[in-house]
Parts: sequence; C-alpha cells; structure tokens
Amino acid sequence: MKSLFLTLLITPLFFPGNAQRSAPDTVGTKMGPLIIQPIQHASLILTMPGLTIYADPSNADNYNGLTPPDIILITDIHGDHFDIKTIDAIKKAGTLLIVPQVVADKLPDADKGHLVVLKNGDQTTQSGISIHAIPMYNLPESPTAMHTKGRGNGYVLTIGGRLIYISGDTQGIPEMRSLKNIDVAFICMNLPYTMDIKEAADAVLAFKPRIVYPYHYRGNNGLSDINAFKTLVEGGDKNIEVRLRNWYPGK
Ligand code: ZN
Repeated sequence: MKSLFLTLLITPLFFPGNAQRSAPDTVGTKMGPLIIQPIQHASLILTMPGLTIYADPSNADNYNGLTPPDIILITDIHGDHFDIKTIDAIKKAGTLLIVPQVVADKLPDADKGHLVVLKNGDQTTQSGISIHAIPMYNLPESPTAMHTKGRGNGYVLTIGGRLIYISGDTQGIPEMRSLKNIDVAFICMNLPYTMDIKEAADAVLAFKPRIVYPYHYRGNNGLSDINAFKTLVEGGDKNIEVRLRNWYPGK
C-alpha cells in the first residue's frame, strides 16, 4: 500500500508533460471517432481508429505513454514547429513525414524514404485521409516577414467527411477567410509572430468553422486573451463553438 501511494505521488515528476495535459475531445466522423488531443503551443494529436497523426510535435516528454505517430505534419522551419530531436525520439519505423520543401531540406537522408513534400496548393491522400497544404504567411506580404508566403504550410485534412484546418503561423489571409465547410479549426493568435485576437476572430467569423480551438497563443507579452477571443467569435456568430483548452501545461 505504501509503495502504491509513493508511486502515485512521484509519477507526475517523471511525466511532467502528462500531468496537466488537456483532456481529449472526440468528434464523430464516417471513419469513426476522431480524438483531438491538445499537446502544447502548436503541437496536437489527431487519432482515428488505426491512425495517429501528430502535428508539429515538440518536446519528446510531452508524448510519454502516447501512441507513436503514423503521420507527422510539419508546418514550418521555426523551432516551435520543426523540432528534429523530438521527431527522432517519437517516430516509429515507417512514420510518414509530410512537410514543406524548406523542412525537407533540413531532414537527414534517413528520413527521405518516408517523406511527402507538399507546397501550397498540393494535396496527398494517405491512409484514407486527404491532406491539403494551404498558404500561411504574414501581412503585408514581404520578403522580410517572419512568415513569407509559400514557405510554410497550413493544412486542411479531410477525415471521414470532416474537414480539419491547422492554421500554422499566419495572419487572417484571404486563403483562410475563404475556407469552406471547416468542422474543426486550430487558429494561431500571438504577437508579434502571427496575429492578435481581433484579427483572428474576424477571420474566423469570415469562414465560420463549426468548432475553433485557439492554439499557438503565447507571444512576447505572455498568453493572448483567448477568453476575449471566445467572446468576440461567439458574440458574432452563435453557431461557432470556441473551445478553450490548456495548450501550456506545466507553465
Ligand atoms: Zn510558431
């Protein structure tokens, strides 16, 4: 009894990423339940029966005890999205990497046998999931912007008839605002890297996803006010559900 108590007491010390991980959500699809697991900042996991997709995995400790990925999506080259140490630690034999060219250029040769490179506008189908790369960039467009158009990829995944949008690092670009029929959207909002909550809310109200998760919301001045984002979006359109989750466990 005493040893069980001790085990329970010390377990969180060994699994810091697990201790306060946000509870997963489930969305029904024609292929079965889609489980959405927020991990940290830009990192999330989408799980279908027999298929696990990691987006922008970071910090290998965050993945203790979780099923390794069949597919890893990477949006861009910055360290909060492309973390090669974490990729090496969590991937299994045959994990498929789906990346923009700039990320492919930084991968070791060993990864190149399990790689799909997508540029903005490209689409691939893997394990019955459609993955469409769409632009992500800062406005106004500039060669010196932190995110230049064409370098990184946002992704729209079609999973069992549901459309899932992962924004990557972007502002409220026309390509986001004109999205259609998105069921679940992960939207960045942090300054100075992406956009403020007003711009994010305005873009979301333009394309009207069914469910929105603010993610990637820690900036130079701490966490963006995602409660105010929720008020703006749900006040503007009561058919949109904003889901606030803890994307910064342990902080
Ligand atoms: Zn970022």
